[in-house]
Amino acid sequence: MTSGYPDFRDKRAFNEVINFESVNQDIYKNKKKIFNSCKEKLFMKAAIEEAEKAFAENEVPVGAVLVSQDEIIARGHNSSIMLNDPTAHAEIIALRLGGKALDNYRLTGAEIYVTIEPCIMCMGALLHARLKKLVFGAYDHKAGAAGSVYDLSCDERLNHRIEITPLVLEVECKQLIQDFFKSKR
Ligand SMILES: [Zn+2]
Repeated sequence: MTSGYPDFRDKRAFNEVINFESVNQDIYKNKKKIFNSCKEKLFMKAAIEEAEKAFAENEVPVGAVLVSQDEIIARGHNSSIMLNDPTAHAEIIALRLGGKALDNYRLTGAEIYVTIEPCIMCMGALLHARLKKLVFGAYDHKAGAAGSVYDLSCDERLNHRIEITPLVLEVECKQLIQDFFKSKR
């Protein structure tokens, strides 16, 4: 052998290459996992900034950012009281702005990052928008519709499924809500 490549007719050399590739695959997968987890935290931090704006405006502190191709295209925070609008949840506001930004009523392939698990109205809207993925911070055990009280993410009777990553920066997201209600007492 002068080429420096292993002779694939040699079973042992062949297996060595296969093993090497599978090790590389693991490194690759691991790197991808770390990258995705960093990305999720980064976008969740932006959603937390939105929630802080809601807090400052005396609204229940929930924030959301809409991401398309790894870029934030819209932001929203709870504004129901200020706008006298029961539908003005963080997710709905982000979706409305996102639709305008993409000039499309469907946001196929986009992802939303929300500090708190969405309610049934918002989950309905995310499904209508054909969102690819929902990432949220803390579960809402009273009204959540993405796994706690209801689960509209994978209901077979609906015509769209949405991928979910829960509990990203859970502590920070939950803390804001707890501080808010403590300040109301
Ligand atoms: Zn909602």
